[in-house]
Amino acid sequence: MTIIEIEVGDIRTTTEEYARHECCVCGEDATKRHTYLLPRARSNPNSKGYGKDDISRCEDEVRYTCDEHDRIKHLDVPGYEWCGTYTYSAQFAHLFFYWRPKGPQTYTKKSSA
Ligand SMILES: [Zn+2]
Repeated sequence: MTIIEIEVGDIRTTTEEYARHECCVCGEDATKRHTYLLPRARSNPNSKGYGKDDISRCEDEVRYTCDEHDRIKHLDVPGYEWCGTYTYSAQFAHLFFYWRPKGPQTYTKKSSA
């Protein structure tokens, strides 16, 4: 392992791949997105729903499933309460994709840039 001394002005380059979230049970493309909140979210400072009236679109934890495993949409996520379920559609497509790191990071020293 190479130890890199990082300095101000150094450049870090990462490569990311656009990917679809996968079912947490079988790994197939996800078609359902389930959101969860901490208990008493509106009055819980640790929750994203803290102090809000409408917490239906807030989330502290997320799980993805395919249609086949949608049965477990209220699956137990210890310490959380189920909040909502989104079905894959044009309207919610953006919720099902993300950028994931791919390949090595590269570093360029300021002095050699
Ligand atoms: Zn599945």
